[in-house]
Amino acid sequence: MKLLEDRIKKDGQVIGTDVLKVDNFLNHQVDPDLMADLGKEFYRRFSNEPITKILTVESSGIAPAIATAMEFHKPLVFARKHKSLTLKDHLYTATVYSFTKKTSNEIAISRKFLSADDNVLIIDDFLANGQAVEGLMEIIAQAGATLSGVGIVIEKTFQKGRKLLDDKHVRVESLARISAFKDGHVIFAPED
Ligand code: 5GP
Repeated sequence: MKLLEDRIKKDGQVIGTDVLKVDNFLNHQVDPDLMADLGKEFYRRFSNEPITKILTVESSGIAPAIATAMEFHKPLVFARKHKSLTLKDHLYTATVYSFTKKTSNEIAISRKFLSADDNVLIIDDFLANGQAVEGLMEIIAQAGATLSGVGIVIEKTFQKGRKLLDDKHVRVESLARISAFKDGHVIFAPED
């Protein structure tokens, strides 16, 4: 998606060898107009699927996921990373290793928000090694729900997440695909 690639070129910062910082429009400050465009594009790509729920993980997936949910007019459910007094029983849970924080987190969603009747579209901000998406897929399996596809804002094709999902025959649509970081610059792969 050209608009997104242009924004990454303008505002993205390469950190080390494999991390892109996009806190100006996605991960800290959020650009609502860009999110609306991302939501429309995910809708265009997945509108042929009988989607009943959008699923993501807090916190950075929520902005593009709500924009997508608004296009589908279906609920967004976000997995929580911390249990609390209001979230402790009747949960689906999975353990996810965080690429950016280098720690494992348990993610959880309440059983009342996902069932065997649901066709789920997963939305996330980044696809790196695929741990976050795998955790969400585990939760979908526990609920007996169906995975319709995975929409990713920024995929890094040089990490192993995409292959892992392709091997499981999961439909993945990424709006920007980064094939490498070179001398602090982003190199894009052709779109899906
Ligand atoms: P994965 O689980 O695919 O290894 O990593 C995906 C998660 O890690 C995303 O939800 C995102 O929060 C974070 N992440 C992975 N790579 C990057 C990156 O290059 N930049 C940022 N800001 N977050 C990333």
